[in-house]
Amino acid sequence: METAGAIIVAAGRGKRMGTTESKQFLPLAGKPVLVYALEAFERTGRFERIVVVTGEEDRERVCKLAAGCRLKTPIIVVAGGKERQHSVYAGLQAVDSDWVLVHDAARPFIEPAQIERCLSAAQERQAAAVLAVRVKDTIKVADEAGVITHTPNRDTLWAVQTPQAFRTVELREAHEHAAREGFVGTDDAMLMERAGKQVHIVEGSYSNIKLTTPDDWHWAEEHIRRYAERDSEIRVEENGAAETARQRKETDG
Ligand code: C5P
Repeated sequence: METAGAIIVAAGRGKRMGTTESKQFLPLAGKPVLVYALEAFERTGRFERIVVVTGEEDRERVCKLAAGCRLKTPIIVVAGGKERQHSVYAGLQAVDSDWVLVHDAARPFIEPAQIERCLSAAQERQAAAVLAVRVKDTIKVADEAGVITHTPNRDTLWAVQTPQAFRTVELREAHEHAAREGFVGTDDAMLMERAGKQVHIVEGSYSNIKLTTPDDWHWAEEHIRRYAERDSEIRVEENGAAETARQRKETDG
């Protein structure tokens, strides 16, 4: 059985959120954003280690936060770098599993089933796999003057998310290749593509958003509220069904 480790990158400052506190530590429905992803990875039971990459100054509080979650999976906390790519590379130094999944701490709505699908797809195909959703809007490419140069065929377009799954040695090589060429990408799949490796898409869900702006934050609070309501409706229905079954048993008996 091949092993897997996870890297959760949480070393960004998230300036577009407009808060002094980094978004991964802000409480969302009372729970720090980072904890959502930690719990989702833990629930899969598929990872022998989770590496959290954070700012040097935040290492201690991330250790405390992780300890407070009482997870079974060992958590390692390492310091990140200037760009996301540098943070992932720092995290890779602490992973020795066969496979590695890289996830943004800023995506709290990742579900354990999606994490598992991404890892399984990579392992089945023996290649990289990333979660993504079909692009709903028509996308234009424009020049610096803001004049549209072309319109790619929407059927071929995907908005990529995390997690992204890789064979650990291949991702490490792709990072080193990019570093040698002075290339900085916005996700890890890009580095694999540049290194000539195949990356497969696994269809994800639109709710796996990356919290970036205050609008996203409002959407996230509303999303949690809707889910809490739906769960309590399900519980009421389940309790109702159980009560009906009990009454029927009494009548029959
Ligand atoms: O900035 P952006 O929202 O694209 O960041 C995506 C993820 O990468 C976030 O979880 C952020 O904390 C992380 N990141 C990082 N190190 C950086 C920049 C971003 O770990 N230097």
